[in-house]
Amino acid sequence: MLTVPSLLLAIALGGALGAPASQSEFDDLSIRTIQFPSYHEEKLPLAVIEGLQFSPALPRPLSSESLNAARASFANISSVTGTSISDEAIEELQGRYGRRLWGPGYMDITADSEVEARSLEERQVTVPNFPTPDPSQHPELTPMLAKVTASEIKGYVTQLSTAYATRYYRSTNARAPALWIQSQFSSWLGSSQTKLAENSFDQPNVIGRIEAKSGDPNAPIVLLGAHLDSTSQTPSTKAPGADDDASGVAVMMAIMRILKGSNYQGTYAIEAHAYAGEEGGLLGSQALAKSYKAAGKNIRGMLDFEMVGWQPNTSTNSGKSSTISILSDPVTAMSTHMTSVVKAYVPTAERRSVACGYGCSDHYSFYNQGYPVVCIASYGPNDSNLNPGYHTTNDTVDKLSFDRSVDFVKAGLAWIVEVAA
Ligand SMILES: [Zn+2]
Repeated sequence: MLTVPSLLLAIALGGALGAPASQSEFDDLSIRTIQFPSYHEEKLPLAVIEGLQFSPALPRPLSSESLNAARASFANISSVTGTSISDEAIEELQGRYGRRLWGPGYMDITADSEVEARSLEERQVTVPNFPTPDPSQHPELTPMLAKVTASEIKGYVTQLSTAYATRYYRSTNARAPALWIQSQFSSWLGSSQTKLAENSFDQPNVIGRIEAKSGDPNAPIVLLGAHLDSTSQTPSTKAPGADDDASGVAVMMAIMRILKGSNYQGTYAIEAHAYAGEEGGLLGSQALAKSYKAAGKNIRGMLDFEMVGWQPNTSTNSGKSSTISILSDPVTAMSTHMTSVVKAYVPTAERRSVACGYGCSDHYSFYNQGYPVVCIASYGPNDSNLNPGYHTTNDTVDKLSFDRSVDFVKAGLAWIVEVAA
């Protein structure tokens, strides 16, 4: 028991996670305001947040002894910053990645003084009255589906997970993968339809856009999302994040390339967002969702892709082409509609419904602003079949099954023609 707190201390004070000096807002000792699933808000130094997250998981349930020992291991930081660390913070953050819980599990709301403490379940979200999914109404989809290949997805995942040692939002080269995604979007969509949305750390969000048929720049938006950053136990030096979430970004990129290559335009505009800093508390998507809300942008629906490459053989998917888990929260009507889309268009896939929970990925940022959202993945956070390399340096491209991930491109294209037509 005594060795773990000293490990915590070593991680927290070792400086291994240090941000470049120019990014003072995200230095080790900078204080972040984070909101936990109970909607409790707490101010903590980044070194404490990361020290707790990345240290080995203590035995559960935590005892008052282990809580106090963990707290004591950060005494040097707390005495400098004047912060205290609640039991809840230790419970939620300690060994988080060792416990294989999805996403950061909290929102960093430092930049958002207007986030209300009320429950996210109380958000009023209006879901459009989408037609019942019907492939016979969408012959335009058939030639697009013929362009879906496993090798395209694998190529993007290989680039993102091997050309950059890490994509952690506080790492020194955090900008490079975003610029590569921008270059790809730009080559298909044109530079005027590709934008960077800068963040308060040195990793921008990337936005690619296909205009509505009408050309109306204010047409409601049909939105695809996935996060470009990665993490691991050693995020400053090595975090391949092939499944989490290069796979989701790759699927989104393939969808945009195929839509544009097919000259597809809908009644609504289509945007693809690659988010920065998801693992830091949904940072990039929160900033963008907030700016869209402030600008009065109408989002007809958002489909988020999270970890879609890990596709093992299981007792329930033999004879199926893939496993698609549709997250059942936080907007039931969106999840129900997505389930119908997958059933109608990718009938060979095993369909599953799993709850994800507060702050599990970037769709929560848009939900938090009142937009209708849904997220699909291979497996959810509590599934025994969740990628065992998740949030480790073993989340590598060789472990993934791209012949099965193609189903997510098909499902995404089908969702687009259903909701953007
Ligand atoms: Zn993720």
